[in-house]
Amino acid sequence: MIIDIKKFGTLIEESREAILSKMRRLRREDPFSTEDRALIVEPGTDAAQLFSHEKTVVLEGQLKRDLGEIEKALEKIKKGTYGICENCKKPIDAARLLAKPAAIYCMKCERELEKDANSKKEGSKFKKR
Ligand SMILES: [Zn+2]
Repeated sequence: MIIDIKKFGTLIEESREAILSKMRRLRREDPFSTEDRALIVEPGTDAAQLFSHEKTVVLEGQLKRDLGEIEKALEKIKKGTYGICENCKKPIDAARLLAKPAAIYCMKCERELEKDANSKKEGSKFKKR
């Protein structure tokens, strides 16, 4: 299969925009993100607010990681190395790129990397996609 890099570039740019707008929305919804809130530390802060703040932090972390991959994928397009695994330098399966245009690792390497990341945080089982 021939990979249409231009098309993938557009797809990646689009998902980048989507993530950026999600991040903006998250910040707006986070009760602790505004300057005022950060300055006033109230005793007995609403537990629900704290919880939603926690959730926001986790979600934002995920979005940031996704964004990092997207930026890398865009850079790879510029450099002309798009579709080549960052780890083993072999071409990434076209079907995988179709499913995840911002993929910078081949399936095998991503699995290895996930395994590595998982062995670091004990007891947490990785969710299978
Ligand atoms: Zn690889």
